[in-house]
Amino acid sequence: MKLFDLTGKVSLVTGGNGGIGLGMARGLAQAGAAVAVAGRQAGKSATAVKELEALGARAMAVEVDVRKEASCRAMVQAVVERFGRLDILVNNAGTNIRKRPEEYTLDEWHTVLDTNLTSAFMCSHAAYPHMVRAGGGKIINIGSMMSIFGAPFTAPYAASKGGIVQMTKAMATAWARENIQVNAVLPGWIDTDLTRKAREQVAGLHDKVVARTPAGRWGSPEDHAGIAVFLASAGSDFVTGTAIPVDGGYSVQGV
Ligand code: NDP
Repeated sequence: MKLFDLTGKVSLVTGGNGGIGLGMARGLAQAGAAVAVAGRQAGKSATAVKELEALGARAMAVEVDVRKEASCRAMVQAVVERFGRLDILVNNAGTNIRKRPEEYTLDEWHTVLDTNLTSAFMCSHAAYPHMVRAGGGKIINIGSMMSIFGAPFTAPYAASKGGIVQMTKAMATAWARENIQVNAVLPGWIDTDLTRKAREQVAGLHDKVVARTPAGRWGSPEDHAGIAVFLASAGSDFVTGTAIPVDGGYSVQGV
């Protein structure tokens, strides 16, 4: 469908070499976009690129540590050098350290905030001039249920994901005049490497999530392909500053 056609568009997904990021990257590739996947593990990124190419997309891997400003800027530059432009940025790279608030060191706090929140600011900052040059752009920031709720083991993570939603609103208002739409996606509980660890660390988590989720299951990376295409396409040109849950109803469950 033309409204959701991304042919000729260039996208960059941080953490696009696995999990939710790769689920989104697959969607963007299938809609016709060129896709750059960025992460720290080169082997994982190379495998993701092969998979995206098999879907018929132009794809590239970029090595990045999103905690470092120079690395974020070099990543954006590499994509623009290879594909000539940048239209779509998905700020997806993320991490978590699960402890009670009183147990964190300040270093651990900064690791989570830098990876999840400051990186999204820096990558958006680096992408902005290229989007302006292209006549507009789409930024998709990945929040979480912890953008809305709290849990005893999530102080820095919840701070970073709450911050993502507010930063999304601020950037959306600032950059609307340049035709750049900025939105956030709030995944529910999704089966990935990140939550595999959570299931080991938090007793009973698997069953609690299934019981609380109206859809009656954990989400998958593939559940995020459609929202990525929508928020990257002309179909969402008047949608900006929002935070859209992709959670099987988890966040609207009253009892
Ligand atoms: P994964 O662990 O599968 O993916 C995390 C990705 O982030 C990896 O591709 C990893 O790449 C990348 N990454 C982490 N740190 C860095 C870094 N310093 N520099 C560059 N890349 C980095 O987890 P998910 O797919 O679950 O998580 C993706 C996003 O979704 C995160 O922002 C997470 O907070 C969010 N989310 C996840 C939920 C879930 O239930 N799974 C729920 C709500 C939100 P590499 O391995 O190459 O370093």
